[in-house]
Amino acid sequence: MEISKKCSRVAPSATLQIDAKAKKMKAEGLDVVGFGAGEPDFDTPSFIIDAAKEALDQGMTRYTPASGTVKLKKAIVEKFRKDNGLTYDPAQVIVSNGAKHSIYNTLQAILNIGDEVIIPSPFWVSYPEMVRMADGVPVSVITHEEDNFVPRPSAIEAAVTEKTKAIIINSPNNPCGCVYDKNTLEAIAYLAKKHDFYIISDEIYEALLYNGQKHISIASLSEDAYERTIVINGVSKSYAMTGWRIGYAAGPKDVITAMSNYQSHATSNPNSIAQYAAAAAIEGPKDATKAMVQAFHERRDYMIATIASIPGLSAKMPGGAFYVMLNIKGILGKCWQNRRIDGSMAFTEALLEAENVAVVPGDAFEAEGYVRLSYATSMQNIEKGLARIAHFVSALQ
Ligand code: PLP
Repeated sequence: MEISKKCSRVAPSATLQIDAKAKKMKAEGLDVVGFGAGEPDFDTPSFIIDAAKEALDQGMTRYTPASGTVKLKKAIVEKFRKDNGLTYDPAQVIVSNGAKHSIYNTLQAILNIGDEVIIPSPFWVSYPEMVRMADGVPVSVITHEEDNFVPRPSAIEAAVTEKTKAIIINSPNNPCGCVYDKNTLEAIAYLAKKHDFYIISDEIYEALLYNGQKHISIASLSEDAYERTIVINGVSKSYAMTGWRIGYAAGPKDVITAMSNYQSHATSNPNSIAQYAAAAAIEGPKDATKAMVQAFHERRDYMIATIASIPGLSAKMPGGAFYVMLNIKGILGKCWQNRRIDGSMAFTEALLEAENVAVVPGDAFEAEGYVRLSYATSMQNIEKGLARIAHFVSALQ
């Protein structure tokens, strides 16, 4: 007997190996500094915890409608109106088990075998895998550091074929930390109209923007963009609620209905208590989010300034999210203990062994020559970790 062809096509996470090694070292009592985190290092604000307790006390422990409670959908509709200038009917909204699940449902709802999905690269590793899981074909469009990793519309258009069904965009971006400017978003909306494909806009890092920038949802740019965009968002990153597993999508009614039908058979409703807490988060005060953004902002500035002082390394100033793409091309070819650092994986392994510092190698997300550092960790860790990286680089031969 064999596992399915479909499942054997799904790649294991390339970063898992290094993550397992870092965890093992920590368990052995070593002082490992981790720059790998993909989640805020803050606790969920207490008013959200209180809402969850209230839900339990009120006996909200039963099935809810499969696509989410009326209360949470209303809160989401109001959020889109207030924050993004987008008007949705609750029937155009679905709540799922995290934004990841929302993206998965979207791809299941719109892809047929062999349909192509354009994904600007470097990308979040789950996008191409989820496209494959929905029988689609991921098509990478390379972005460049000199453009701050924002895709060139000409490169997107060059990747379009008659099989193109959608593009996935992600701004603010994981892993690059870049923020797409309005002109680029308009150009993507224009191409989607011209070649008639969907836009999946993953806006999970919307709240994590620095220097007073304002988030622009591509769906708000025109009537046509609105009609062909599925906006993905959730509470994981904005409210430090990664473990609660609540994400949502809004878009064309037929797509959302198809997603709801699919979800009703696959998972039923997301957790009832978490839905109640998510409504409280979305409707509640934003002080905790602001404090978190302020802390990320300070860490980002410190990281970029410190990296600039390390010979051989460099990084562009990220505009959002909590990631820095560290350019390591200047040290490639050098040796650590007679081991040649010939790529991001070799750099990552040697750094972990030499200095107990864990980073994410760029080759996992088509960014060879870079490693990703997350600043969702304390300033103390950042200072210690960067000092160790500087020491590691200075000792290379
Ligand atoms: N989209 C991007 C770009 C992410 O980086 C992540 C989490 O790392 C998600 C979606 C998933 O968010 P959620 O926790 O809501 O599933």
